[in-house]
Order: sequence, then C-alpha cells, then structure tokens
Amino acid sequence: MIKIYIAFWLFLFGTVFGSFLNCAAMRIVRGEDFIRGRSRCRSCGHELRAMDLIPIVSWLLSHGRCRYCKAKLSLRYPLTELVFAVALEGLFFRYGITVAFAGASCLTGCLFVLSLVDLEILEIPDGCLLTGVIAFCVTAPFTMESAKAFFLHVAAGLVTGVVMLVLSLVMDGVLQRESMGGGDIKLFALLGLWFGFTGILILTFLSCIFGLLFVSVRRRQTEPGGIFPFGPAIAAAAYVMLIFGDGLRDWYFRFL
Ligand SMILES: [Zn+2]
Repeated sequence: MIKIYIAFWLFLFGTVFGSFLNCAAMRIVRGEDFIRGRSRCRSCGHELRAMDLIPIVSWLLSHGRCRYCKAKLSLRYPLTELVFAVALEGLFFRYGITVAFAGASCLTGCLFVLSLVDLEILEIPDGCLLTGVIAFCVTAPFTMESAKAFFLHVAAGLVTGVVMLVLSLVMDGVLQRESMGGGDIKLFALLGLWFGFTGILILTFLSCIFGLLFVSVRRRQTEPGGIFPFGPAIAAAAYVMLIFGDGLRDWYFRFL
C-alpha cells in the first residue's frame, strides 16, 4: 500500500520535474538563462500563472492552446512531462527509495535534457554530462561495493572515451565525413563511468540497435548528409541498463 502511495506522489513530482527539464532543454537550445526568469507563452509573451503550469492538466484543460492568445501549444509539453514521470516510476520499482534511486534519477534527468537538446540542435551540452559525473561521484560511496569497483568504473570511463575517440577517427577516415560527434564520445565516456566495462559493452550494442531503429523511423526527416542525433539512442540504452542492467549482465556472461 505504502508503495502505491509513494508511486502516486512520485508520478506527480515526475510530471513537475519533467516540465522543468523540458523548459531547461528549450532554454539551453535558445541560449537563455534557465534558472532565472518566469515562464512565458512562446507566441504572445504573456507571463504564465500557476494555473497554466500544472503539468499535463493545464494542457488538457486548455485543449492544447495558450489561454491568452489561443496559439497552439506543442504536444511536446504534456509528452515530456508524461515520459519523465513514467521513467521515474520505472526507477522507483527497480530501486525503491534508495541512494541508488537518487543517483539513477539524476542520471535519467541529465539524459532526458541532453536528448531533447540533441534532437533539436544536434549538440550535447557539457553541463548535462558534468552533472552526470557529479551524480556518480556523490552516490558511488553508497552504491559501489568496494573502492576497487569504484576505480574500475573510473577506468572504464577513461578507456571508453579513448576507444570511442579512436573508433570515430578511424570511421571518419573510412567514411570521409564526421561519423560520431564529440558530444556522443563524451556521453559514452560518462556512461562507461556509470556502468563499468561489461555494462558499457552491452550499452554500446543496445545503443546501436536503438540508433538503427531511430534512423529507420526518422529516415525522411534526417538531413541528406546522413547526420542524425545519436544522443537519444544512447540515452535510451542507458535507461534500459539502469532498469534491466543486472539481467542483461547475467545473460551476457552466460554467452561468454
Ligand atoms: Zn500565448
């Protein structure tokens, strides 16, 4: 019973936080200050009141339009709020209310923002990656079984960064164009730190599958140069690892 009670409040909290992260992502894309400043309607500039800022509910009540100028509000608002709330629920049922849950939530928040930014401008903000590193370092003393495990994760992060850099340079040479962005390489390094050597191998494999799915779905929208945002695919793979990581590791070692 208590679990359902927490899950309920966590869902509400998740929509509010999803709304905040979506707003942060949009402000990063526009190069605005994303801590200060009140929320305004993007088309008429009317300052939004508390009533307009209730996640999902406001959007439904106003039929997806601004209450002041009746401009259409993107489906992106309720969708991001819903997706983030559901993502938090997944983490809650996997970890309960623990330090590991706090760390995983923080990483998921970073992945969420960087995916939204990457989808829009094909860039992965360093701030998101740095926040992910800090979240790992803060929670590691509680989640790592030993100091040795911690240093193995640090090594995995460094090795992943170097390997991905070399791989991307080789691929650039073969393909005669940029294969993987610098942001993607740094993101892989961050996830090497979070998931360790075995984890990052599985994660890389998963992200390629997600990337291929993503490209086939968005084929018409991708630019002629074949550039597409890889960040969301990597982020999705990382989230799968957060939830099903242990099972996937078992499965991986059975095949080894
Ligand atoms: Zn408006």
